[in-house]
Amino acid sequence: MKIAFIGLGNMGGGMAANLVKAGHEVRAFDLSAEATSRAQGNGCSVILTVREAVQGVDAVVSMLPNGAIVESVYTTDVIGHAFTTALLLDCSTIDVATARKVEDAARAAGYEMVDAPVSGGIAAANDGTLTFMVGGSDAAFAKAEPILAAMGKAVIHAGDSGAGQAAKICNNMILGATMIATCEAFAMAQKLGLNLQTFYDISSKASGQSWSMTSYCPVPGVGPQSPADNDYQGGFAAALMLKDLKLAMEAAASVGAKTPMGQRAEELYAAFTAAGSGGSDFSGIIKTL
Ligand code: NAD
Repeated sequence: MKIAFIGLGNMGGGMAANLVKAGHEVRAFDLSAEATSRAQGNGCSVILTVREAVQGVDAVVSMLPNGAIVESVYTTDVIGHAFTTALLLDCSTIDVATARKVEDAARAAGYEMVDAPVSGGIAAANDGTLTFMVGGSDAAFAKAEPILAAMGKAVIHAGDSGAGQAAKICNNMILGATMIATCEAFAMAQKLGLNLQTFYDISSKASGQSWSMTSYCPVPGVGPQSPADNDYQGGFAAALMLKDLKLAMEAAASVGAKTPMGQRAEELYAAFTAAGSGGSDFSGIIKTL
């Protein structure tokens, strides 16, 4: 297939490379020359404008920083410039309302579009092991699945337009809250004189177990290898966790959902990033406890 890829940053760079590996012809665009030259090295053709990149393609994939940029790129340079037979896939994490608005605009112009945000970080983007949560019609999902499968280990249809973004922020709201709860428990266990490895051995097999504990333990030297073993560098930046929690709080307010734990997690990650730790892995919040 001929695929336009817009946004070749930390995540998009690896994803575009995996589309090339799967045999697709990838027409790549990014505002950053560094990102495009990396993409070129990975076998993508670098195109100088979005409008040119989307000409004659079978699909457009985007991996961009936020909703305002996604809306502007699609409404200005994709819709009306790609053939209406091109499937549009936005993999960025953005607010549900903007995802639905852009998808409505695409549908009105005759396109099929899905929101397909991901779970998994930069390593999973490079390795092609992302999990995609997809919002869109059954027909659009059927077309999107094989394209996304080349970049991930799981592709799940979450529901109609916007449902992928809704699933993503609900999932990450759990992640933010459970990471803080896990950090709190380890910090308290230490103060109570427990050996942290022993506490891990118990809690990882008891009802306190969670992904934050057993796949991403915030304590160095305990559990599997994680950013804690690398002084909280790499991994999932606290600033990105804060972004997702803010999106979750906006979505909660829009539907009147009560999310006291999500709200507290957002406050704690806001304080952590304001103190200069936005670039640290999100499990580094244990240092504040
Ligand atoms: P990034 O900042 O590394 O990459 C974004 C890229 O978009 C940059 O290369 C930037 O130059 C480009 N860009 C910005 N405006 C553009 C425009 N108008 N046209 C073309 N290119 C433009 O960010 P990232 O870490 O790759 O994240 C991308 C998306 O993936 C975000 O929505 C983020 O929330 C989501 N996400 C990130 C992670 C992660 O671990 N990094 C995990 C899951 C989801």
